[in-house]
Amino acid sequence: MASVTLKDLCKSFKEVVAVDNVNLEIRDKEFLVLVGPSGCGKTTALRMVAGLEEATSGEIRIGDRLVNDVSPKDRDIAMVFQNYALYPHMTVYDNMAFGLRLRRKPGLFGGRVFRETEIRQRVTDAANILDLGQLLKRKPKELSGGQRQRVALGRAIVREPKVFLMDEPLSNLDAKLRVQTRAELIKLHRRLGITTIYVTHDQVEAMTMGDRIAVMKNGVTQQVDTPLGLYHHPVNKFVGGFIGSPAMNFLPVTLQSEDGKVYVVTDGIKLRVPDERASALNGRASAVREVEFGIRPEDMEIRQGSAPTSSDENVFRATVDVVEPMGATSLLYLTVGKSQVIASVEAETEVQEGYSVDMVVDMARAHLFGQDEQAYF
Ligand code: ADP
Ligand code: MG
Repeated sequence: MASVTLKDLCKSFKEVVAVDNVNLEIRDKEFLVLVGPSGCGKTTALRMVAGLEEATSGEIRIGDRLVNDVSPKDRDIAMVFQNYALYPHMTVYDNMAFGLRLRRKPGLFGGRVFRETEIRQRVTDAANILDLGQLLKRKPKELSGGQRQRVALGRAIVREPKVFLMDEPLSNLDAKLRVQTRAELIKLHRRLGITTIYVTHDQVEAMTMGDRIAVMKNGVTQQVDTPLGLYHHPVNKFVGGFIGSPAMNFLPVTLQSEDGKVYVVTDGIKLRVPDERASALNGRASAVREVEFGIRPEDMEIRQGSAPTSSDENVFRATVDVVEPMGATSLLYLTVGKSQVIASVEAETEVQEGYSVDMVVDMARAHLFGQDEQAYF
């Protein structure tokens, strides 16, 4: 088993900077997810760890070993891609055994030599782990998408690598199978405990699978934290908006101080910032005026019962434009002043399009971002 360390890692393709000074320590046995929008440099970063792409600068270590100049086959890694091309003319068994057999040609591939009995043992073990035992004689075309994906995983497992590298391995599966395979991958990781770097653009996958998540944008790591750490304490507007679904609402607001209290204010909205949060502004509320208020759809609810009074400092009145039933919850598309806000409320809530509603905001869970998009809280 092994950790993976990326130090000041950069990769440029001519004028395109694909990976920009990434520093990341993936712990032994950890499942680390690299997430970000398409084109942010995830695949390039992963390919550098695999040795398929040379770093422009920086260091890559697997365990204590500097591997920048080590060839891919000697890095003790196994990679699973989105397009897990299996050999169509080979059986499941042979597809899984293929990589080990290749290594029998030491002149060509330099790896160790596996005897056929050892290959059989490894393929059988992997097939048991992945529940492919009954399918070993089939050809890929006789398998479902999920089964094929498991064969691709099996091909990686039989190599008993120190590190798994996975690049969007579930993207080709339909939604239901993706959820199912996601759970299987997590179970597999618990069982084998192999250090894994998992690349995806899907924040739900990242949240559900990662021990920790590294969020990337434009080749730069924005934040590395646990799923809930990212959810509750995004360091900037990008992370706040990227993690969570439906996405966080952002409203341009003005900060106002009155009698030692701090408010966020915009057309139709005046909400009090809790004192412990206001203190994060370090008295800057008077200096910092134009900021962005961030509130997640699930951190608001409809006020039930009596009309709000002037002492309600966490309520705004809005018009319901659209109600979207999701099952357990409903999404409300609201207009307040010039702003649009999405709220997620319990489905039983009595509400119809065209209603006016009073929304109670959980201000302890709200966020504030400066002009530079960094979070005050
Ligand atoms: P992601 O996997 O996050 O979608 P990539 O790592 O594939 O992103 O790409 C990051 C950036 O590097 C993109 O702008 C992409 O166009 C560019 N890029 C990737 N590979 C190459 C290449 N071989 N030649 C030129 N540009 C590349
Ligand atoms: Mg990619």
